[in-house]
Amino acid sequence: MNTDKLSMRLETVAKYVPAGSRMADIGSDHAYLPCYLAKNTGISFAIAGEVAMGPYQSAERNVQSEGLTTIISVRMGDGLEVIQPGEVDCITIAGMGGSLITSILENGKKKLDSVTRLVLQPNISAVSIRKWFLENNWELVSEEIIEEDGKIYEVLVGEKGDPYKPYNEKIESGLLLGPFLSRKQEEAFQKKWTMELRNWQRIVEQLESAGETAETIEKKQEIVNKINLVEEALKNEES
Ligand code: SAM
Repeated sequence: MNTDKLSMRLETVAKYVPAGSRMADIGSDHAYLPCYLAKNTGISFAIAGEVAMGPYQSAERNVQSEGLTTIISVRMGDGLEVIQPGEVDCITIAGMGGSLITSILENGKKKLDSVTRLVLQPNISAVSIRKWFLENNWELVSEEIIEEDGKIYEVLVGEKGDPYKPYNEKIESGLLLGPFLSRKQEEAFQKKWTMELRNWQRIVEQLESAGETAETIEKKQEIVNKINLVEEALKNEES
């Protein structure tokens, strides 16, 4: 991966950053994404935000060597604190867990006033992001699922709007699996949830052989509920 050729995962994120955006990429690491966007899609301004020194320095090096310092500002700081109010209209956060992404959004809520689009790529727990969208009046407008190098990634795109719009009456299942992804039922989706099912079934067997306590009963119930939701979603595809 470099500033001209992104991974398929980051290319999918890039696809949802509108041309002409003023964007911030939080947790930018090498700043590959903002550099690629500045060179290929005509964003007008970008912030590459990093909390760790090594990745921050690597982002600075890349932005300088690409001659992009007039477009991309590399800033060191935690989450959205690197953004001044009103500075950006699009934020990308990729390659972290869903809970970390939502805590970054939650802690920086005030900076979201001027933001019209969020493009988020959680490595795990996309459900946390869908729940955060629902609780904070962001409408999930698009979702993608891809497989790259044996790993499956989801990309979630949010805009301010009606947070309930993408969901039908099956909201619990929509939050877990993704309303758009459940309807599309692509190969990566089937693969991800078939693997999750096997994993959960194994955990249920272990809980059963561990003997019953209030804790194991509750845990088992929680997993069985998820198994039912996923089996139902996969069955819908067959019918
Ligand atoms: N976004 C790049 C990608 O998707 O390839 C890099 C992902 S890398 C696994 C995660 C990066 O996020 C690390 O460089 C880490 O230092 C940074 N990071 C983690 N928590 C952060 C926070 N609260 N604020 C800013 N950066 C953060």
